Amino acid sequence: MDRYRIYSKHLIERYGEKVYKVPVNLPGTCPNRDGAVSHGGCTFCDEEGSGFECLANTLSIQEQIRKNQAFFRERFGANKFIVYFQAFTNTYKPYAQFIEEVERAANEEDIIGISLSTRPDCINDRYLDFLCQLKTKKKLEVDIELGLQSVNYHTLSRLNRGHTLAEFLDAVIRIKKRDIRICAHIILNLPGDTELDVVENAKIVSALGIDYVKLHSLYIVEKTLLGSQYLDKEFTIISLEEYVARVVTFLAHLHPDVVVQRLVGKGPKGKLLFSNWDTSWWKIKELIETRLEEGDTYQGKNCNYLNGKALRHLEEGFDLQIEEQPDGKIRTI
Ligand code: SF4
Repeated sequence: MDRYRIYSKHLIERYGEKVYKVPVNLPGTCPNRDGAVSHGGCTFCDEEGSGFECLANTLSIQEQIRKNQAFFRERFGANKFIVYFQAFTNTYKPYAQFIEEVERAANEEDIIGISLSTRPDCINDRYLDFLCQLKTKKKLEVDIELGLQSVNYHTLSRLNRGHTLAEFLDAVIRIKKRDIRICAHIILNLPGDTELDVVENAKIVSALGIDYVKLHSLYIVEKTLLGSQYLDKEFTIISLEEYVARVVTFLAHLHPDVVVQRLVGKGPKGKLLFSNWDTSWWKIKELIETRLEEGDTYQGKNCNYLNGKALRHLEEGFDLQIEEQPDGKIRTI
C-alpha cells in the first residue's frame, strides 16, 4: 500500500500510461531580480533561476521539446508529454509573448498538458483567462506551479521573497475559479521554520484544495546571500532525521486527495555549499517511506481539522468515542 499519493501513479490512472515532463528553459528574469519587486532575488536563488536541469535556453521552444521528447521516446517508449516551463518566472513577460510561447508548446505533437512555474504575484485574470481558453480549445491539462516555500510570512521576508502569504492566497483563488490545477512548491527546512510551520503548510494547502505539492529540502548554492549567511554561521540546517520527520508530519496533516509530486529536491551539481546532507535524493525518499511504515503513518492520518472540527460532536447521530489512557485519564477520539 502506498502511504501517500504518488504523482507518477496519478498520471497513469488519469492517462492510462506513463506521462513524461519535458522541461523548457527560456531566457528570462524575475521581478524579484530585475527591480520590479526587488533586486537580488530570493536569498537562496542562483543566477540560473532553477533552470539547471534544462537544455540551453538558446534553443527554441520547439527544439527543446523535440529533443527531450526524442530522449524519452527512445529510452522509455514515451508517448505522452507535459511541457514544463521551469526556469525563472514563466508568466513574467508581456502578454503577447506569453501567449505565443505557450501556444507554440501546446501545438507540438503528443502534448497533453502544460505546466507553468511562476511566482504568486505574477498571475492575473487576463493571463489566466487565456490559459482557461487554451485548456478548452486544445483539450489540455494546465497546471500552475506556485513557489510558496513557506506559509510563514516572517520566513518569506527573511528570504527576500518579495511576496507574503496574501499574494499566494489571491493567486490560488483566481486560478481555482478557472478550474486550473495548482501545485504548491514548499521547502520544509527553511531557516527559522519550525514543526508548527510544517503543520500549517499542510493545513493551508489542504484547506485551499490545492491539487499537487512539491516538497524540497533546502540546498545552498555558492555566491548567494543564503550561502554567505551559511558560511558566516548565521543559521544551522536541521539534521536529515529531522527533515524526514518533518516530511512525515507534513504528509500526516495533508488532505488525502493532494497528489505529491516530490518529497525531496535535487540541487545543481558542483556549486553547492549544502545539499541533502550529502545523501542521494532516492535514499532520503526511502528513509521517509520507511518512517511512514514504522509509525503506521499515512497521508491524511491527521487531516481532521477541516469543515468545522469543533462542531462535529454536536451533529445528530455523532457517536463520541472515548478511550481510557494508561494513566486512567479519559480522552475523546
Ligand atoms: S522567485 Fe524564483 S527566479 Fe525569482 S529570485 Fe526567487 S527563486 Fe529566483
